[in-house]
Amino acid sequence: MNVFVVNCGSSSLKYQLIHSDTEKVIAKGLCERIGIDGRLTHKPAGKEEVVREVSMPDHKSAVSFVLEALTDKDFGVIKDLSEIDAVGHRVVHGGEKFAGSVLITEEVIQAIEECNELAPLHNPANLIGISACRALMPKVPMAAVFDTAFHQTMPKKAYLYGLPYAYYEDYKIRKYGFHGTSHSFVSKRLIELIGKENQESKTIICHLGNGSSVTAVRDGESVDTSMGFTPLDGLIMGTRSGSIDPAVVEYLANKLNCSLDDVINILNKKSGVEGISGVSSDFRDLDKASMDGNERAAAALDMFAYRVAQFIGAYAASMNGVDAIAFTAGIGENNFKVRQAVCNYLGYLGVEIDETANARRGEEIRISTDGSKTAVYVIPTNEELAIARETVALL
Ligand code: AMP
Repeated sequence: MNVFVVNCGSSSLKYQLIHSDTEKVIAKGLCERIGIDGRLTHKPAGKEEVVREVSMPDHKSAVSFVLEALTDKDFGVIKDLSEIDAVGHRVVHGGEKFAGSVLITEEVIQAIEECNELAPLHNPANLIGISACRALMPKVPMAAVFDTAFHQTMPKKAYLYGLPYAYYEDYKIRKYGFHGTSHSFVSKRLIELIGKENQESKTIICHLGNGSSVTAVRDGESVDTSMGFTPLDGLIMGTRSGSIDPAVVEYLANKLNCSLDDVINILNKKSGVEGISGVSSDFRDLDKASMDGNERAAAALDMFAYRVAQFIGAYAASMNGVDAIAFTAGIGENNFKVRQAVCNYLGYLGVEIDETANARRGEEIRISTDGSKTAVYVIPTNEELAIARETVALL
């Protein structure tokens, strides 16, 4: 079965065509600057990448260009659209309505719309992608796979905030958590690797990328996670502050004489390791600057690792132990220094890192020694494959 996986942003659309039996990517690509001008980058497996500057006034035209590219006689990978058997859509927020992936129907679309106010930058774009695909492939079954769904198993004590209860009931203010597709994919694999599929298991997944979150997974279910009502909470990230004292928001608005929206924008886009270092949000730049003696870059790296270690400690405490920890996403898979720095805090868990294994990059590998009391792995995440698997499972 060929599954077309779509991840739609407000002005971009990422896609992959995945063959579900072999789990091979047949083609992948990206539409950028939708609604501005438009650029399609299309990479068919085993062939040269194709880049086309084409006018994309809206998402429907973007999807249409992608479908043309997939069926093009020179750089296409399928004869016609009948070879697309299903579409899997990434949807950021499913609120409390979706605790798993679902096949898309009119009712599902309406329920996703009702979650729009919880993710105003993302859900409307995801819905536009869904309706563009439905218009162009009306007979093809489609699934919605939510970033929040995996975390719907969190107990109340983990997801409620210390606010008047009425705000939860009336406004749905609670911790939702994000990166669920990745945490689910990586935790399943980690549980397999430690041979605990049918036993009790306590694992912690560190998804460390430009956006970062840590999740406590007990017996395969999310029981707590570091992101909250929005993806701004928790760890220090590339440009996001992570958790801060909420009183800072008003104080800063007064100092800068700006609106609350402006402060939230600062917390989302100008903070994190970029704001601290003044260098970059990219950990490769921070590593280099730190080696060149830049103290703020070094401080940003230290702070990042410290916070990750704090969450690991908190979750080891909440689960009363941890069998294994996994690092994933851009930083987790590629940056051995960050992994080492985090693990340096974990002596009390009996963590011992094998430096040779930890020096490897971007591959699935156990990085703790055989004698390490808690096992530590690097497991590359693959959200597109996870979406394709979910879609096939629903069909
Ligand atoms: P993500 O959001 O998962 O794409 O992660 C972005 C972060 O991962 C950036 O801070 C990069 O420094 C880091 N990263 C991604 N790829 C690499 C790589 N090949 N080598 C080192 N760091 C990388």
